[in-house]
Amino acid sequence: MSDNIYNKEPDVILIGAGIMSATLGMLLKELEPRMSIAIFERLDKAAAESSDAWNNAGTGHSAFCELNYTPEREDGSVDTSKAVKIAESFEISKQFWSYLIEQNRITVPASFIRSIPHISFVWGDDNITFLKKRYEALHECHLFKEMQYSENKNELNEWMPLIMHDRDPMQKVAATKMDLGTDVNFGALTRCIFNCLKELENVTLYFDHEVKNLTRRSDKRWKVKVKDVATGKTKIIKAKFVFIGAGGGSLPLLLKSGIPEGKGFGGFPVSGQWLKCNNKQLIEKHNAKVYGKASVGSPPMSVPHLDTRVIKGKKELLFGPYAGFTTKFLKKGSFFDLIKSIRFSNIRPILSAGFHNIPLTKYLIQQVVQSPEDRIDALRQFIPNARMEDWELEIAGQRVQVIKKDEEEGGVLEFGTEVVNAADGSLAALLGASPGASTAVSIMLDLLKKCFANKMNEETWKRKLKQMIPSYGESLGSDAELCRRIREWTTKVLQLKVPEFVR
Ligand SMILES: Cc1cc2nc3c(=O)[nH]c(=O)nc-3n(C[C@H](O)[C@H](O)[C@H](O)COP(=O)(O)OP(=O)(O)OC[C@H]3O[C@@H](n4cnc5c(N)ncnc54)[C@H](O)[C@@H]3O)c2cc1C
Repeated sequence: MSDNIYNKEPDVILIGAGIMSATLGMLLKELEPRMSIAIFERLDKAAAESSDAWNNAGTGHSAFCELNYTPEREDGSVDTSKAVKIAESFEISKQFWSYLIEQNRITVPASFIRSIPHISFVWGDDNITFLKKRYEALHECHLFKEMQYSENKNELNEWMPLIMHDRDPMQKVAATKMDLGTDVNFGALTRCIFNCLKELENVTLYFDHEVKNLTRRSDKRWKVKVKDVATGKTKIIKAKFVFIGAGGGSLPLLLKSGIPEGKGFGGFPVSGQWLKCNNKQLIEKHNAKVYGKASVGSPPMSVPHLDTRVIKGKKELLFGPYAGFTTKFLKKGSFFDLIKSIRFSNIRPILSAGFHNIPLTKYLIQQVVQSPEDRIDALRQFIPNARMEDWELEIAGQRVQVIKKDEEEGGVLEFGTEVVNAADGSLAALLGASPGASTAVSIMLDLLKKCFANKMNEETWKRKLKQMIPSYGESLGSDAELCRRIREWTTKVLQLKVPEFVR
């Protein structure tokens, strides 16, 4: 750790040591090497909440297999705009990680990213029709050019033998496959970035330090009240810019900051569980991330998937998520989190969002009362002969879905992420969790545009941004040659499987 700035005033305070603070901290230090940064994390290590490997699914979200990113329009056509945006965002993340590797900031890409085919798998006539239409719509765009579609059972058996084994021969099934998919250990990546950050000059990372309050001073700087969890002592630190990257803990801190832009926001916690396979033979038989279709009325993040993961060098297999309900905003949070987040300014949006989301409430109740047999039944739609003894329950991370004010409905529940910033750019908070860690770099670039607008227009920052993210300022979705060049470079640096287009 570099010299202690606990008693000095840092330029920037980052609250929380998850993937978002890691990304923002690293971007800022690359852009402005002399900037001083203090990072406060309430737990005793980095990435112990949502960013930890077992707390999320580790999918490098590129919209290759997630059917909820390509909704069907009323006229029956498939809307690919969100899929293109997410695929572009993941390419931006891969560029930044490749840059960090080339600069020797982080090492061993295999510890955090690996190639794994991304497959969408459906059954039944309606779903097959949808998948075919989706494939045809996506295939037009070079970002998804390598996507394959099949209804051929022999071919599907090669793609996903565990899923096709013992399946009813009369059942109609179809799948698409993208070999360019990835499995990402966001926990390992976050810790790698923090290990580098804390060695840089003027950066200090404090574990076991919980931010309790924030107030704006008359000179526009922020006073941040931090508690040392080990000693119980509190201290006030001042800074010109504060990022609330506290995951589920962001909403309460945003409300405490009192910025008008944060008024009316509420949060709806949704917990998650996985089934983790403990049978080595089964784990070996599967080699893909296979996403299905969410059932009607269920929230988008509940899409069931059967995933190969590699965590700490070990191959794993998980299925889920199963949703749940708890009043905690963090996995290691308090049962009072939800009630304490209710304010006069957000009570109407919260009640309205609840009223307009009865199907979600019903879905959550049905998920919460599930027995182990119900969970295995859900798994059997993927692995027809699944046995209870091969699987154990694992608790996933906590999501806090954003509730925001809405003129017409009073309040709406959102399933994406939202950067909320003070008008003067002195504070920003990240709310929500999807598509999440995969798009961390794009989200943080948006935040920089909002909070460091002048700097982003300076030549030195622009040049550096282009060096870190060669496609910066250009569209990967509309420039096929740029996309090919960028993918060729990131595939090589991240040591991913070389796809057809590079060979
Ligand atoms: C079940 C599940 C599956 C997911 N699957 C995927 C996936 O497949 N792909 C993907 O890209 N994304 C996925 N996500 C989303 C992704 O995990 C998150 O978007 C991402 O990890 C959020 O990072 P973060 O830094 O904002 O939050 P976190 O990683 O939660 O970090 C926040 C940190 O802030 C700390 N903190 C909280 N309050 C305070 C305080 N007051 N003071 C100091 N520190 C504080 C916490 O202890 C924590 O360490 C998934 C999420 C869940 C829950």
